[in-house]
Amino acid sequence: MDDSFRFPGREVAVKRLNANWSAVRLPKIGWAKYRDSRSICGVVKNVTVSLDPLGGHVAFTCEIAHTAPAPFHEVVGIDRGVATTLALSTGELLTAPASLERIEARKRKAQRILARHKRGPNRRRRAQARVARLQARQARIRRDVHHRAALYIARRYGVAVLEDLNTRAMTASARARWRSRGATCGKRPGWHRLATILAYKMEQRDGQVVTVPARFTSQTCAACGVVDATSRESQARFVCIGCGHEDHADINAAINIERRWNIPLLDVEGVHQQPVEASTGRDLTVSENPRPSGRGRC
Ligand SMILES: [Zn+2]
Repeated sequence: MDDSFRFPGREVAVKRLNANWSAVRLPKIGWAKYRDSRSICGVVKNVTVSLDPLGGHVAFTCEIAHTAPAPFHEVVGIDRGVATTLALSTGELLTAPASLERIEARKRKAQRILARHKRGPNRRRRAQARVARLQARQARIRRDVHHRAALYIARRYGVAVLEDLNTRAMTASARARWRSRGATCGKRPGWHRLATILAYKMEQRDGQVVTVPARFTSQTCAACGVVDATSRESQARFVCIGCGHEDHADINAAINIERRWNIPLLDVEGVHQQPVEASTGRDLTVSENPRPSGRGRC
């Protein structure tokens, strides 16, 4: 759907028009006005112009001499909630703007209208264009959310621990659990792209992204280690059936994710091999948490 063109930085010129607008001179196109979302710093290496149903979008890739911060290696675990909310093991929730929900509602409505216009080429075309514009707005907002979240994390932490996506899809029950959390395996919106953006932003600052197995992170109590599917009271709430510990379900999971990387856990081989649904789960303890394997970069 998107068309994009890239120009080398030396062939373009930029001038500031006022507080909100600037103009860029592109080869063969000439001057084009754009709204400034942030100022350009460093040396412009290249310029990408992309076209979506909302119009043009111009992105400058700049070379910046980084003043790398003193290496700090604070570790943060990250659990992705439904849609674009991220839960950090520090208790923070990074949420997407409410406008995304509103646009989603408008898009659904536009799609219903489109479905009704089977006939009438003009009306149908207009309805199609409306759906495409709303989709493009969502994509822009998501991209912005990803960049902001990644920057927020990269500035504060040295190691970001994420769930390994491949282990998550291991069993049918895991897949069912995943779906019940709002998405199918490959379709969790943009999670993989967020991980990619996060990886390069972390690396710019001498940090790194690591992954750990995802098994049971959402069913394990971060306070006492008991693993039980029923502790996950709802999408948002975790209430431990063992010790009564309560927390936001995704934050509880993020803490477990962080620990899998950070702490050499007890690792009793071959003890708890069945999926937790097959047992009462009550007898499972921290020993369930396997030693982090996939220590490679995401
Ligand atoms: Zn507990």
